[in-house]
Amino acid sequence: MDIREARETATALRAQIARHDELYYRRAAPEIEDAEYDALVRRLAELEAAFPELADGGSPTARVGDDSDARFPSLPHSRPMISLQNSYDLAEVAAFDERVRKETGRADVRYTVEPKIDGVALALRYQDGVLTTALTRGDGRSGDVVTANALTIAGVPPRLPPRWRERLPGRPRSIEVRGEAYLSLPRFRELNRLREEAGQPLLANPRNATAGTLKTLDPAAVAARGLSLFCYQILGLDGDETGLATHRDEMAALGELGLPVNGFLRLAEGAAQIAAHLAELEGLRDGLDHVIDGAVIKVDELALHPSLGATAKAPRWGLAFKYAAQEATTRVRDVVLQVGRTGVITPVAELEPVLLGGTTVQRATLHNWDEIARKDLRVGDTVVVAKGGEIIPKVVRVLVGERPADARAVPPPQRCPVCATPAVRPEGEVAVRCPNPLCPAQVARRLRHFAGRDAADIEGLGERGVAQLLEAGLVRDLPDLFRLDAGAVAALPGWAEKSAAALLQGVARASARPWAAKLFALGIPEVGVTTAAALAAAYPGIAALRAADPEGMIALYGVGGEMARKITDFLAREDVGRLLDELVALGFLLPVEAATAVAAPADTWFRGRTFVLTGTLSTRPRSEAKALLLRLGAKVAGDVSRKTDALIAGADPGGKLDRARELGVEVLDEEAWLQRLRREGVDDGA
Ligand code: NAD
Repeated sequence: MDIREARETATALRAQIARHDELYYRRAAPEIEDAEYDALVRRLAELEAAFPELADGGSPTARVGDDSDARFPSLPHSRPMISLQNSYDLAEVAAFDERVRKETGRADVRYTVEPKIDGVALALRYQDGVLTTALTRGDGRSGDVVTANALTIAGVPPRLPPRWRERLPGRPRSIEVRGEAYLSLPRFRELNRLREEAGQPLLANPRNATAGTLKTLDPAAVAARGLSLFCYQILGLDGDETGLATHRDEMAALGELGLPVNGFLRLAEGAAQIAAHLAELEGLRDGLDHVIDGAVIKVDELALHPSLGATAKAPRWGLAFKYAAQEATTRVRDVVLQVGRTGVITPVAELEPVLLGGTTVQRATLHNWDEIARKDLRVGDTVVVAKGGEIIPKVVRVLVGERPADARAVPPPQRCPVCATPAVRPEGEVAVRCPNPLCPAQVARRLRHFAGRDAADIEGLGERGVAQLLEAGLVRDLPDLFRLDAGAVAALPGWAEKSAAALLQGVARASARPWAAKLFALGIPEVGVTTAAALAAAYPGIAALRAADPEGMIALYGVGGEMARKITDFLAREDVGRLLDELVALGFLLPVEAATAVAAPADTWFRGRTFVLTGTLSTRPRSEAKALLLRLGAKVAGDVSRKTDALIAGADPGGKLDRARELGVEVLDEEAWLQRLRREGVDDGA
C-alpha cells in the first residue's frame, strides 16, 4: 500500500468511526457490535503506525469518544478522564506485563484483576464530605454536570459518613470518586418488559440505557429507571492526596466510605496468574446480575502509576481485557407471533437449536416489524445470534449471502393471530396490537399475571389451568374468576373436588392481599412491583387512584411524566373502568384499602412529607433540590394545596408563597431549609 492509498483508507476509516461514535456516545443507539467497532479502530491504529505521517491529534486513536451534550452545563475535570487500552488475547496481556516490568525496573509487579462493568463512567465530587457535583466523562477534559441525576442512583450517598477523612491517610478535605454507572440486568429486563407492553422501542442493551438515562433532564424519570454504580477510584482534590498505597486499599477505602464497590478483586503476579483470574471471571460472567464486557488489569501499587504515565487516550498502568462476544450461527425455521397482556403482537424467531454460552438456544426475539425490516430477516435465512443482557438471545445480523431462493419475507400481520380482530398500529408506536381486550391470548396473559406470586398470589392457576378455564368457557375475563363454580372446575380433565376447592379458596383470599399487590395484579401498563408500591402508598384505594392526575403522580418516587400519563390514560379507558367497577363490586378491590408502607430511604423528618418548591435557591438548582427530596422519601408536588406539608421558598417566590400563607402551610425559606437538612444529617452541599 502506498501513502496515497493509506491516506484514503485512513480518511474513510475515520469517517466511519466518527459516525459510530456519534451513534454510540451521543445518541446511545449503536448500529454495530463493540468488537466490530474496536476492529475499525485497530485497523486505523495499524495504518497510522505504518505511516507515521498520517498521525493526527484529532484521530479517534488519540482521543476518547465524546459524550458531551449541550443541554447540560459542563465543568472541567480535576484530572483527565480517559479510556483504557483494549486487548483481546493473552499475548497482549503478557506484552503489557513485560512493558510494565521494563519501565518500572521491577522484576515482579503485582496487578489487580476486576470486572469491567459495561456502563458509563461517572465522577462524583465530595466537598467536605458532601456530594456537590457529578460529571460524565464528556470529551475527557470536561464533563457534563449530572448531579441531580446521580443523586437518584441507589447507593450513592449524598454525604460521606462522619469521620470519613480519618479513613484516608492523606486526610484530603475533598475527594473525587470515579466509577461506572450501570443498569442491573433485572432492572433492564423489567424496563424492557414494560416497554414491550407499552409498544415502545426496546432499550438495546444496559449500557445504552444507562447512557440515555444519565442524559435525561428529569431526575424523577432517572430515579424511575433505577441505575446502580460501582466505584473504582478515589482522587484527592485541590492539591490534597488520598495517601492510599495500593489499588486494593483504594477499593477497601471506597467500601468503608459507604460507596458501592464490586466484590470481585483478585491479585496476580505475572501473566499466567492474570490469565487464571481472567478465566475465573469469565466463568462467573453468565451468572452476574450486571453486564461485564471484560476485565480490567491494573498495577496495584499506586506510586508506580505516575511514572508509567498515559497516552492522550489511556493510562499505561492499566489494560482492559475484552471477552469475546458469545455468538453462534443458525437458521430461522419460522417466525411465530405472540400476543402480550396488553395486546402487543411480538414476532419471535424459531431457530434450529444451537449451543450458545452454555445453553441451547431455539428462539430469539425480533422485537417488532421495524426491526425485521431493518435486519431484512426472512424465514429460511442463516443468522448470527448473540446473548447480550437480554433473557432471550437476539439476532445480531442476517447472512444475506447465504439466503436460499425460497426464503420467505415476514410482513406485519393484518389480523390478530389468536382472535382474528384486525390489528392496529397506533401512531408513534412501533408495536402492532390486537385491540380486542377480550382476545383470549390477552386474557390468558392477564389471568396469569393476576395470579402471580407478587400479585394476587393464587396457587393452582398456572399456564395450563388458565388455558383450561378459557377453553371450557368458564372464564372470559378477570371478574369471572370470582364467579367460578367449584363443581364445573372439578369436572375439567385433571381436576378434582379438592383442587377445585383450593382454587376457589385462593381466589377468595386474593381480596386480602396487600393493596400494592392487588394494584400490581391489575396489570396497568408501566406499573411493576416497585411502582405499584409507590402508588399504593400515595393513593389509599382504587377510587383515589382513578381520580389522580398525572401531575400529582409525577411527584411520587420513581414515576416519570410519560409513565404517569400512560397510567392515568389506562385508568380512564371505558373498558378498564367497567372492569375496575366490577372488581370493586366483587369485593376484590376495596374503595379504601388498608395502608401499605413503601420502603423509603433513611428515616428523616422529610420522609413521607409533601413539599412544593418555588423561587430560586442559591445553593443548588430546584431540580436538584427535588431529586434530593425524592431520595429522602419525600414527595414533591407542583402546586400548593391543603395536602402540602411545607413550601420551600427561594428568592423571588411568586404566587405559591401567597397561596401557602393563605392555607396556613409551613414556609421554609432557604436558610430554614438548609438548617433542616443539617439537623437531619443531610447537608445539601452548599
Ligand atoms: P472502554 O469502555 O473500552 O473502557 C474504558 C472504560 O471502562 C472507563 O472509562 C471506565 O468507565 C470503564 N470501566 C468499567 N469498569 C471499570 C473498572 N473496574 N476500572 C476502571 N474502568 C472501568 O472505553 P470507552 O472509551 O468508554 O469506550 C470505548 C469502547 O466503546 C470501544 O472499545 C467500543 O467497544 C465501544 N464503542 C462502541 C461503538 C459502537 O458503535 N458499537 C462506538 C464507540 C465506542
